[in-house]
Amino acid sequence: MPSTIEFKQTLLQRYDQPGPRYTSYPTAPHLREDFGATEYAALVQRGNDDPVPRPLSLYLHIPFCTSPCFYCGCHRVITRDRTRGEDYLVRLLREVSLQAELVDADRTVRQIHLGGGTPTFLTPAQLDRLLEGIASNFRLAPATQREVAIEIDPRSIDTDDLARLRSGGFNRVSFGVQDFDPQVQQAINRVQPAAQTLSLIACARREQFHSINVDLIYGLPRQTPARFEHTLDAIIDAAPGRIALYGYAHLPQRFKAQRQIRADELPAAEQRLEIFQRALQRLADAGYEHIGMDHFARPEDELARARRNGTLIRNFQGYAAGGHADILGLGVTAISQTSDGLAQNTRSLSEWNHQLDRGELAVARGLWLSPEDRLRGELIQSIMCHQLIHIDAVERRHGIHFSVHFQRELQRLHRLQDDGLVLIDRRRIEVTPAGQLLLRVVASVFDAWLTRSGPATPITHSRMV
Ligand code: SF4
Repeated sequence: MPSTIEFKQTLLQRYDQPGPRYTSYPTAPHLREDFGATEYAALVQRGNDDPVPRPLSLYLHIPFCTSPCFYCGCHRVITRDRTRGEDYLVRLLREVSLQAELVDADRTVRQIHLGGGTPTFLTPAQLDRLLEGIASNFRLAPATQREVAIEIDPRSIDTDDLARLRSGGFNRVSFGVQDFDPQVQQAINRVQPAAQTLSLIACARREQFHSINVDLIYGLPRQTPARFEHTLDAIIDAAPGRIALYGYAHLPQRFKAQRQIRADELPAAEQRLEIFQRALQRLADAGYEHIGMDHFARPEDELARARRNGTLIRNFQGYAAGGHADILGLGVTAISQTSDGLAQNTRSLSEWNHQLDRGELAVARGLWLSPEDRLRGELIQSIMCHQLIHIDAVERRHGIHFSVHFQRELQRLHRLQDDGLVLIDRRRIEVTPAGQLLLRVVASVFDAWLTRSGPATPITHSRMV
């Protein structure tokens, strides 16, 4: 597996097109609307029927935010009315209990992940009640083996709250930072003093959170290579175990909030690449390892260890180290992901409320995986996580002749080989150091759904780079 990345500007420009991020295969836009609560119950039952009890991971979505960040493409509800948090919590606890009824008692919850929106829109006391509700409905793995993660908007809590979350059972945090530059913060409507964020990171370390992640974004309005370097320097000094460096995807036709961003303030394509290139260099100089796509981790972080020992996986939460588990999604828009299929709750908060008030799950779409989906999903995982496909192993596991089954795909891969992105021989397909930043391009070769639905458009996917 290549451990280095090479920045090749001409290749990055050539392949900078819209494409899926492959947090699942098939990807979420392909979920079908003839899949509802009944099919979801059958999907969970399929996991129950596995002779070896499959571990569980719970994803809980809290959709509320108090103000809109203009770059945001997440599903969120903007409100300052805190009573909405309480109403939501009551229904979410109802959903916890409804979903727990579907799960066999011998299956243990190994991971709990709160995302949003802003999970800390709920108060620490409400978050305590949520964890208690989960603990009284599901069987939890022992505390030492349990990951309990929360995404934090640093503007929404102080160090006392953070310490309380730790004592309440949370052991992983992810801080949304994006950029410390005041001009950029003004332009994206997210004014967040650096000192406040840095004191929370220091507090998270004192409180011994097992993992601390920071999210940054390049390509934001008013960003320059030099100014972004100040942000990066401050974050590197704070030494979080993980850094995610996302490229801003400007899709104003799709995300209304982005219409507030002035296109003439966005860095030009060359500047955007320069910001990214300098950031890659700074992170490498500071000792961060490239995990895949936009994720970096210190060598001692479990994500870096998982990458080195070949146990890294990719799911709806991005890269993960804890091994495969069936993910049950709770809350509005939440996605469930098991070995047998995918399901998503309704995106409408009022519909979700209504269904929970009737005592029913609000599953709105989903999909059963076919054997072909499993095979292609496995290859895409392999590219995204290990940058390598062992052809013999795939042939043995799936009973196929690789060069016959994937004749067309191999033709496309050979074109990528001509561009220096992959190396192909009879036994392996390996991503080169130059292909490290274009994993999505390589993975998309195996995406039969993408071809089926025509070329990707900017409306459905963000840019590859
Ligand atoms: S970026 Fe995060 S905090 Fe900002 S509006 Fe989107 S979900 Fe809310």
